[in-house]
Amino acid sequence: MASFEPAVPIRVDPETGIWTTDGLPMIYLPRHFYLNHIAAFTKALGEGPALRVLYEAGYESAWQWCEKEAAQHNLHGADVFLHYMKRISQRGWGQFTVLELNRSTGETRVQLDHSVFVAGHSGLEKQSVCSGFAGWFAGALEWVGHSMGFNWKLKATEDECAGDGQHGHCIFWIRPSNEIGIYHRVAIK
Ligand SMILES: [Zn+2]
Repeated sequence: MASFEPAVPIRVDPETGIWTTDGLPMIYLPRHFYLNHIAAFTKALGEGPALRVLYEAGYESAWQWCEKEAAQHNLHGADVFLHYMKRISQRGWGQFTVLELNRSTGETRVQLDHSVFVAGHSGLEKQSVCSGFAGWFAGALEWVGHSMGFNWKLKATEDECAGDGQHGHCIFWIRPSNEIGIYHRVAIK
Protein backbone atom coordinates (compact mmCIF):
# COMPACT_ATOMS: atom_id res chain seq x y z
CA MET A 1 0.00 0.00 0.00
CA ALA A 2 1.39 3.37 -1.00
CA SER A 3 1.45 5.92 1.76
CA PHE A 4 1.88 9.64 1.72
CA GLU A 5 3.14 12.38 3.94
CA PRO A 6 0.42 14.27 5.89
CA ALA A 7 -1.39 16.85 3.75
CA VAL A 8 -1.75 19.22 6.71
CA PRO A 9 1.14 21.54 7.53
CA ILE A 10 2.68 20.47 10.85
CA ARG A 11 5.25 22.40 12.83
CA VAL A 12 6.90 21.22 16.04
CA ASP A 13 8.44 23.72 18.45
CA PRO A 14 11.98 22.43 19.15
CA GLU A 15 11.89 23.66 22.74
CA THR A 16 8.41 22.80 23.95
CA GLY A 17 7.62 19.91 21.57
CA ILE A 18 4.21 21.50 20.91
CA TRP A 19 2.71 20.70 17.51
CA THR A 20 0.89 23.39 15.54
CA THR A 21 -1.07 23.48 12.30
CA ASP A 22 -1.96 26.91 10.93
CA GLY A 23 -0.84 28.36 14.27
CA LEU A 24 -3.29 26.19 16.26
CA PRO A 25 -1.81 23.87 18.93
CA MET A 26 -2.51 20.25 18.04
CA ILE A 27 -2.13 16.88 19.79
CA TYR A 28 -1.17 13.79 17.82
CA LEU A 29 -2.73 10.79 19.52
CA PRO A 30 -3.56 7.14 18.84
CA ARG A 31 -7.11 6.54 17.57
CA HIS A 32 -7.77 4.07 20.39
CA PHE A 33 -6.91 6.76 22.95
CA TYR A 34 -9.77 8.97 21.73
CA LEU A 35 -12.23 6.10 21.31
CA ASN A 36 -11.40 4.73 24.76
CA HIS A 37 -12.34 8.11 26.22
CA ILE A 38 -15.67 8.06 24.38
CA ALA A 39 -16.27 4.50 25.60
CA ALA A 40 -15.53 5.55 29.21
CA PHE A 41 -17.87 8.58 29.00
CA THR A 42 -20.58 6.37 27.53
CA LYS A 43 -20.16 3.76 30.26
CA ALA A 44 -20.18 6.35 33.04
CA LEU A 45 -23.00 8.59 31.78
CA GLY A 46 -25.12 6.35 29.55
CA GLU A 47 -25.32 6.76 25.79
CA GLY A 48 -27.88 9.58 25.61
CA PRO A 49 -26.10 11.92 28.07
CA ALA A 50 -22.68 11.04 26.62
CA LEU A 51 -23.88 11.98 23.14
CA ARG A 52 -25.26 15.28 24.43
CA VAL A 53 -21.90 16.10 26.05
CA LEU A 54 -20.04 15.13 22.86
CA TYR A 55 -22.42 17.23 20.77
CA GLU A 56 -21.83 20.33 22.87
CA ALA A 57 -18.05 19.85 23.13
CA GLY A 58 -17.77 19.12 19.40
CA TYR A 59 -19.99 22.07 18.54
CA GLU A 60 -17.91 24.52 20.61
CA SER A 61 -14.63 23.13 19.28
CA ALA A 62 -15.80 23.42 15.65
CA TRP A 63 -17.02 26.98 16.26
CA GLN A 64 -13.61 27.98 17.71
CA TRP A 65 -11.76 26.23 14.89
CA CYS A 66 -13.78 28.01 12.19
CA GLU A 67 -13.22 31.37 13.85
CA LYS A 68 -9.44 30.86 13.97
CA GLU A 69 -9.06 29.26 10.53
CA ALA A 70 -11.20 31.90 8.80
CA ALA A 71 -8.87 34.58 10.15
CA GLN A 72 -5.74 32.54 9.38
CA HIS A 73 -6.63 31.91 5.73
CA ASN A 74 -8.91 34.87 5.09
CA LEU A 75 -11.79 32.52 4.28
CA HIS A 76 -15.44 33.49 4.47
CA GLY A 77 -18.86 31.92 4.86
CA ALA A 78 -19.43 28.40 3.57
CA ASP A 79 -15.84 28.18 2.29
CA VAL A 80 -14.79 27.86 5.94
CA PHE A 81 -17.00 24.78 6.30
CA LEU A 82 -15.55 23.25 3.12
CA HIS A 83 -12.06 23.92 4.47
CA TYR A 84 -13.05 22.27 7.76
CA MET A 85 -14.24 19.14 5.95
CA LYS A 86 -10.95 19.02 4.02
CA ARG A 87 -8.82 19.44 7.13
CA ILE A 88 -10.57 16.80 9.27
CA SER A 89 -10.28 14.43 6.29
CA GLN A 90 -6.55 15.15 6.09
CA ARG A 91 -6.20 14.60 9.83
CA GLY A 92 -7.49 11.04 9.74
CA TRP A 93 -11.04 11.26 11.15
CA GLY A 94 -12.51 9.84 7.94
CA GLN A 95 -13.16 11.09 4.41
CA PHE A 96 -15.83 13.81 4.46
CA THR A 97 -17.60 14.80 1.24
CA VAL A 98 -20.13 17.63 1.15
CA LEU A 99 -23.03 16.42 -1.02
CA GLU A 100 -25.24 19.51 -0.63
CA LEU A 101 -24.84 22.84 1.11
CA ASN A 102 -27.55 25.48 1.07
CA ARG A 103 -25.80 28.81 1.57
CA SER A 104 -29.08 30.53 2.54
CA THR A 105 -30.38 28.11 5.18
CA GLY A 106 -27.32 26.11 6.25
CA GLU A 107 -29.03 22.83 5.37
CA THR A 108 -26.22 20.46 4.49
CA ARG A 109 -25.66 16.79 3.73
CA VAL A 110 -22.28 15.19 4.27
CA GLN A 111 -21.09 11.74 3.26
CA LEU A 112 -18.50 10.11 5.47
CA ASP A 113 -16.33 7.18 4.45
CA HIS A 114 -13.75 5.40 6.61
CA SER A 115 -15.07 6.91 9.84
CA VAL A 116 -12.84 6.40 12.88
CA PHE A 117 -15.97 5.40 14.82
CA VAL A 118 -16.64 2.55 12.39
CA ALA A 119 -12.99 1.49 12.25
CA GLY A 120 -12.56 1.38 16.04
CA HIS A 121 -14.76 0.72 19.06
CA SER A 122 -16.20 3.69 20.94
CA GLY A 123 -18.98 2.02 22.91
CA LEU A 124 -21.65 4.01 21.02
CA GLU A 125 -24.07 1.42 19.76
CA LYS A 126 -27.75 2.17 20.19
CA GLN A 127 -27.75 5.13 17.85
CA SER A 128 -25.52 5.55 14.83
CA VAL A 129 -21.99 4.92 15.95
CA CYS A 130 -20.55 8.07 14.37
CA SER A 131 -22.99 10.42 16.15
CA GLY A 132 -19.98 11.79 18.00
CA PHE A 133 -19.34 13.88 14.88
CA ALA A 134 -22.81 15.47 14.81
CA GLY A 135 -21.99 18.51 16.96
CA TRP A 136 -18.94 19.25 14.80
CA PHE A 137 -21.15 19.90 11.76
CA ALA A 138 -23.71 21.94 13.69
CA GLY A 139 -21.09 24.12 15.37
CA ALA A 140 -19.17 24.78 12.15
CA LEU A 141 -22.30 25.58 10.14
CA GLU A 142 -23.88 27.77 12.81
CA TRP A 143 -20.58 29.67 12.90
CA VAL A 144 -20.81 30.08 9.10
CA GLY A 145 -24.33 31.46 9.47
CA HIS A 146 -23.25 33.75 12.33
CA SER A 147 -20.30 35.06 10.26
CA MET A 148 -22.72 35.99 7.45
CA GLY A 149 -25.25 37.65 9.75
CA PHE A 150 -27.71 34.73 9.81
CA ASN A 151 -29.05 33.16 12.96
CA TRP A 152 -29.20 29.54 11.77
CA LYS A 153 -30.45 27.01 14.30
CA LEU A 154 -29.44 23.60 13.04
CA LYS A 155 -29.68 20.03 14.18
CA ALA A 156 -27.18 17.47 12.94
CA THR A 157 -27.91 13.76 12.88
CA GLU A 158 -26.30 10.72 11.37
CA ASP A 159 -29.11 9.26 9.27
CA GLU A 160 -27.20 6.33 7.76
CA CYS A 161 -24.16 4.62 9.20
CA ALA A 162 -21.75 2.25 7.50
CA GLY A 163 -21.21 0.74 10.95
CA ASP A 164 -24.55 -1.09 10.77
CA GLY A 165 -23.34 -3.30 7.93
CA GLN A 166 -26.24 -2.22 5.69
CA HIS A 167 -24.99 1.09 4.30
CA GLY A 168 -21.95 1.78 2.14
CA HIS A 169 -21.33 5.19 3.70
CA CYS A 170 -22.30 7.28 6.68
CA ILE A 171 -24.65 10.16 5.81
CA PHE A 172 -25.16 13.18 8.04
CA TRP A 173 -28.01 15.64 7.59
CA ILE A 174 -27.74 19.06 9.13
CA ARG A 175 -31.16 20.70 9.01
CA PRO A 176 -32.84 23.84 10.35
CA SER A 177 -34.62 22.95 13.60
CA ASN A 178 -36.34 24.71 16.49
CA GLU A 179 -36.35 21.54 18.57
CA ILE A 180 -35.90 22.22 22.27
CA GLY A 181 -32.86 20.64 23.86
CA ILE A 182 -30.55 20.87 20.83
CA TYR A 183 -27.37 22.71 21.71
CA HIS A 184 -26.74 26.15 20.18
CA ARG A 185 -24.17 28.73 21.21
CA VAL A 186 -26.89 31.37 21.31
CA ALA A 187 -30.04 29.95 22.88
CA ILE A 188 -33.29 30.08 20.91
CA LYS A 189 -35.42 32.99 22.06
ZN1 LIG B 1 -21.27 6.12 10.78
